[in-house]
Amino acid sequence: MIIMPDFSLERLVPEYIKTFEPYIPSKPDPELMKLYGCNHLYRLNNNENPLGPPPAAQEILRRFKPYKAAIYPSGDSYYLRKKLSAKHGLNPDQFLVGNGANEVITFVIKTFCQEGDNIITADKTFAVYEWVAQFSGFEARLVPLKNFYFDDQGMLDRIDERTKILFICNPNNPTGTYWNEGKLRRFLNTIEGRQIVVVDEAYFEFVEKEDYPDGIKLLRDYPNLIVFRTFSKMYGLAGLRIGYLVGSENVVDMIRRTCVVYSVNGVGQEAALMALDDDDHIRRTRNLVRAEKAFLKQEIDRLSLETQMAEGCYMMIRLPMSDTLAYRKLMAQGVMIRSMTGFRFPNWIRVSMGTHEAMEAFINALKRILP
Ligand SMILES: *Cc1c(COP(=O)(O)O)cnc(C)c1O
Repeated sequence: MIIMPDFSLERLVPEYIKTFEPYIPSKPDPELMKLYGCNHLYRLNNNENPLGPPPAAQEILRRFKPYKAAIYPSGDSYYLRKKLSAKHGLNPDQFLVGNGANEVITFVIKTFCQEGDNIITADKTFAVYEWVAQFSGFEARLVPLKNFYFDDQGMLDRIDERTKILFICNPNNPTGTYWNEGKLRRFLNTIEGRQIVVVDEAYFEFVEKEDYPDGIKLLRDYPNLIVFRTFSKMYGLAGLRIGYLVGSENVVDMIRRTCVVYSVNGVGQEAALMALDDDDHIRRTRNLVRAEKAFLKQEIDRLSLETQMAEGCYMMIRLPMSDTLAYRKLMAQGVMIRSMTGFRFPNWIRVSMGTHEAMEAFINALKRILP
């Protein structure tokens, strides 16, 4: 090894990177199965669609021509943006597609934040807003949930002159609670365009409530609003990594400057295009989620455990034991759930709705591990 006395990570790496706790992704299923000694794995940890992608998207995947893998995809997801804009009656330039909604979070933070700025979100929500802000060197102000809901007044109270973005997860992952249209509008009216408001609608297609707001329809009234959607949840394309944001043209024109071209692969673009047409797939998925939520709720009530469930395809359960221990014990029986200590909900787990077989496997495994 060549000796380099002047090489110093200490000097090269910013303090906010050194102090950032890296996220450790879970191992691939076959590795986990070896580790926990199970020969089957029910994945109830990531809110994936148990029905998979819509049939038309599956067909596109089967027919994808291998030669196309050698060709760069459309750099701005041209046809997908065109289709999305037709569907919503907007301009294609109001859409920005990314490598999952996760990537569009980074676009937004890069666009608006500079040294000394902060963002505001909840303490118990999808953690990527907080993480991206922090590893980019910005303060993330975390407002405690109130009764499992995003606390609108609490968030407004934390705004200062360096606040650039407020992130609202609607419905919230993991609690399922949502702001209705009146509440969201009041919040936006109070902000009066001074900050960017992001509404993350990753579970939009699962919500059947009358008063649930369609953020995209509110864009007309609020030029500082940005809406996130994804193909990972309802559309069953999590593995292809495709999500998008929608905003007013001026706002999206700024955000587009921060995108690295070609981050969205060609297969994902084609599959997403086909997935958008399939309303029947949405109906079938909603039916499954509704039925399995009812089944799971009834079973958990029988065990006298506390639950938190509202919209979305998941339920939280409070266990009379450590959630990380429960995770390991459930894994040994081939059931993967999300332990919630990382979401600041110690002793809680989050279970995604799966096939009836998977839900029965979960309940049976849970009964065996309860003290
Ligand atoms: C799953 C999820 C996302 C990220 O989705 P990708 O498109 O797969 O990156 C974003 N927000 C919330 C609330 C989610 O649950």
